[in-house]
Amino acid sequence: MPSKPFKILILGGTGDARHLAERLAVDERISVITSLAGVTREPAPVAGALRTGGFGGAKGLQTFVLDEHIDLVIDAAHPFAVQISANAVNASRGAGIPCLRLERPPWHLEEGDRLTSASDVQAAADAVPKGARAFVTVGRQEVAAFLVREDISVVARMIEPPDVAVPDHAEVILARPPFVVAEEKELMETRGISVLVTKNSGGTATEAKIVAARELGLQVIMVVRPGKPPVPTATQVDEMVDLIERRLG
Ligand code: NAP
Repeated sequence: MPSKPFKILILGGTGDARHLAERLAVDERISVITSLAGVTREPAPVAGALRTGGFGGAKGLQTFVLDEHIDLVIDAAHPFAVQISANAVNASRGAGIPCLRLERPPWHLEEGDRLTSASDVQAAADAVPKGARAFVTVGRQEVAAFLVREDISVVARMIEPPDVAVPDHAEVILARPPFVVAEEKELMETRGISVLVTKNSGGTATEAKIVAARELGLQVIMVVRPGKPPVPTATQVDEMVDLIERRLG
């Protein structure tokens, strides 16, 4: 066993990042630090060490990596968190250490699904048909584009309340994944939802809304994933643990 543990920095903010930290924290060859942006006021508990808040760009992250003697950066941020992923690649390159990505595969809709693709959240808000009752699940940071539409009604679900005022034509539901199909269907039916709006986040924890919308024949407006710089990527926690295992030798 090496005398000094192999130090891994996980850039978190996803369930997968938390599950990976849980797996790595019990390995005595490894020392794991998870970093969170600090946007969620009450984040779920994380195994191993935790630090919170921005680094101050790629240069700040590089300084952190060097000061903390990090051996490996794992970008396990959300598929839509583009800035931190770019910073992870640049900072690790600058520090001369590897960067891997943990990113769940996107959802693929099935034949017959009523899919409208949107290039970003604003385009998704613009695509909601006039008079629609939209179930909006894009997160509290980007819900404002829907709340300003007075010609639609909105049911918006998020983990914590939005920073913006919620108008009368909107309802906010606070809930944390995972969600199940039967409850998603019930929510959509009782609230008379006609359109689901979602990012293509992928993963099983929030997939139930897609299945529920399919079973109810609802329109789905899906924001496509932004591009990220290519790095070796695992799509599952187990696969990432294998990649790390190979590096430990
Ligand atoms: P972003 O646009 O990629 O990053 C914006 C800035 O936030 C970064 O430049 C960095 O600040 C800081 N930051 C982001 N992730 C960080 C982390 N893990 N540790 C420390 N600093 C971090 O990110 P975002 O889209 O605002 O998302 C913020 C966080 O929420 C991420 O951790 C992401 O995984 C999570 N999240 C995002 C979404 C989404 O749809 N975007 C959904 C669910 C969860 P500095 O430049 O100062 O270092």
